[in-house]
Amino acid sequence: MNIPADIEVARDSEFLSGLGAEARKLIQPHLNLVSLEAGAVVARPYSKIEKAYFPVSTTFVVDIELKNDASFTTGLIGSDGLLGAGMALDDRVSLYSVSALSIGYAYSIAVQTLKELLLTVPEFRKRALAYEQYFLAQVQQTAACSALHELSGRLSSWLLRLQELAGDELSLTQSDISRMLGVRRTSITECALELQRDGAIDYRRGEISILSKRKLVKASCGCHAEVGDHFSRLFEESFEDD
Ligand SMILES: [Zn+2]
Repeated sequence: MNIPADIEVARDSEFLSGLGAEARKLIQPHLNLVSLEAGAVVARPYSKIEKAYFPVSTTFVVDIELKNDASFTTGLIGSDGLLGAGMALDDRVSLYSVSALSIGYAYSIAVQTLKELLLTVPEFRKRALAYEQYFLAQVQQTAACSALHELSGRLSSWLLRLQELAGDELSLTQSDISRMLGVRRTSITECALELQRDGAIDYRRGEISILSKRKLVKASCGCHAEVGDHFSRLFEESFEDD
């Protein structure tokens, strides 16, 4: 598969680069850098995964599939995280469908190898379990946000989270966003037009440019910041003393 030259392979997984040199040295030989196309499925609901992943230059979208072909995005896994630690440790099936948001790279590792490394490298295990806890916090925040906040605020929060993980230029159609947020496309169109009129985003067919983070923050419900705070509490604060 051809990956556009502007997608840097030199970038690293932020999750892995946060590990100490000793831990990284033990993990590195087991990693394979793989390229993934937009939409590539890396986990299916109620199936075991054979490979776990550390996103490098792509972001994973984690969807819960509902009856009648509906689905809803419960969380995102970016370069700051990994997919599969909990499943590897407990030999569990995935409850979610997980796919790549954009074309890009990720490190893959065999689940059995991941399990052995988690059991034998305490620093890695601690960081991986912190990420699992963070992911659960994301899911809970998404549930609360969907139940309690207006769509315009939710959309802005969602775009801010995507911007943080994937940058200012997002290849997303309105159908993608309506599927992620579990609402009708026409409702997304109205909210996106309002953000565009306000100068927060520019929306062209299938491409969203974030023009003003400040304006998006102002329009958001605040859940983006809450998710960021969960991350800080679990990573920056609890790993400071190490
Ligand atoms: Zn919210």
